[in-house]
Amino acid sequence: MDLARLTIHEAAEGLRSKTFSSVELTKSVLDQIAKRDGAVRAYVHVDEEGALASAARADERFEKGSPLSQLDGIPCGLKDVFCTKGLPTTACSNILRDFVPPYDATVVGKLKDAGMVLVGKTNTDEFTCGSSTESSCFGPSHNPWDLERTPGGSSGGSAAAVAADECIYALGTDTGGSIRQPAAYCGITGLKVTYGRVSRFGVISMASSLDSIGPLTKDARDAAIVLKAIAGHDPHDTTTPQLDIPDYLNSLGQPCLNGLKIGLPKEYFSEALNPEVAQLVRDAAAVLEKEGAILKEVSLPLTPSALAVYYIICPSEVSANMARYDGIRYGPGPEAVAKGAELELEEYYRQARGEGFGPEMKRRIMMGTYALSSGYYDAYYKKAQQVRTLIIQDFQRAFEEVDILLAPTTPTPAFKLGEHTSDPVQMYLEDVFTVAINCAGLPSLALPCGFSSEKNLPVGFQLIGPQFGESRLLQAGAYYQTLTQWHQMRSQIAMPS
Ligand code: GLN
Repeated sequence: MDLARLTIHEAAEGLRSKTFSSVELTKSVLDQIAKRDGAVRAYVHVDEEGALASAARADERFEKGSPLSQLDGIPCGLKDVFCTKGLPTTACSNILRDFVPPYDATVVGKLKDAGMVLVGKTNTDEFTCGSSTESSCFGPSHNPWDLERTPGGSSGGSAAAVAADECIYALGTDTGGSIRQPAAYCGITGLKVTYGRVSRFGVISMASSLDSIGPLTKDARDAAIVLKAIAGHDPHDTTTPQLDIPDYLNSLGQPCLNGLKIGLPKEYFSEALNPEVAQLVRDAAAVLEKEGAILKEVSLPLTPSALAVYYIICPSEVSANMARYDGIRYGPGPEAVAKGAELELEEYYRQARGEGFGPEMKRRIMMGTYALSSGYYDAYYKKAQQVRTLIIQDFQRAFEEVDILLAPTTPTPAFKLGEHTSDPVQMYLEDVFTVAINCAGLPSLALPCGFSSEKNLPVGFQLIGPQFGESRLLQAGAYYQTLTQWHQMRSQIAMPS
């Protein structure tokens, strides 16, 4: 049996019944990394020794019959923005290239308490700004379905690692689509949670009012297992409310579609959408309808403005969050100083930031600083916040009519590496179906629903819910996956050795 292929729930079952050990499972994953990661480049740091040591400790617990949770002994990859005590955490930026955090992010602590075997840190666009992993200072990851294509971004390393069986599950972040788009491009499942459902403490910020954390997994049941482990209030993150956490595993896989009202937002089936993707997404809706769901066309009229709103608010917050990287508190500082030069403070900052940030970060810092500057604040930032409120109201109105929404995740299947690198606007257009959901802070579950006919590339759709409505999305998603096999497909690409 190829253990690395298993889902969390399958692996947990095998560990509990002692069919195999966590060390065997972890070795199978490490083997897969050794075979495939030279081509996929999902990881920027692999902690083989640490992973095997955690696996051995998990096996001792299984021996005693006292596993910590369903995640005990299961290998995981973490996007390289999660602070991991004693392990490099770089945000794939030169400005943090030598950073080793002295503490764990809250979610990392929670997963460690649940018995996680941390395999390594996965690639991301620099500070998670991008849709392809191409802005990573370590170079891009490759899509396991077609190595010339992007796995998506920014959590492209996490998605590629899951799709290539280089971990059993991974965590990513989603500020404007960065879990859902890579999940769609790699044919896996990804959950963007409601803003505030999962603590952001210890996770390197991109845009603080939009950032969310969630799992990338092989199916919806696994997403529920991970969410159960990481959700909840954290005194270190005041945006996490003190709400009860539902049992996300409850009634998963049971028929739950009869009478469920599913809205198809007509603006998401626009001309921007590739006709084949549109058809596959409609086919997914038809599968749900056959099981008793009621499909209804709805309208989210502000949709065409969402991208503009996002690309004002997001860079504004990015520019504020990047201000702390000055080469003194964080980062190696200017090369000239390392060679013995003495610089005035401002010149020190200029060189440290000039050398440390890549072109996309500089672009975002400039756009954001401009939108926040006193002369333009009202025209850009304030206006964008006002339209953001209207976007929230759009969704609120839709959820008066329907229980959940169903929409494409991306306009096309995965594009080629290099295709959009010289045209940032084309890159931003990749996010056209995901960003509004972040502006509204809503949960959305991305699921695979087929393959493009010509290139055999995965295609996905998303189920969007009202605030804190993750349970229903997971139930509908898990049930959809009992009716379809798309999530079980694996890339057959031969990896160059
Ligand atoms: N692609 C989007 C951007 O570049 C979203 C990034 C994200 O979700 N982290 O801003």
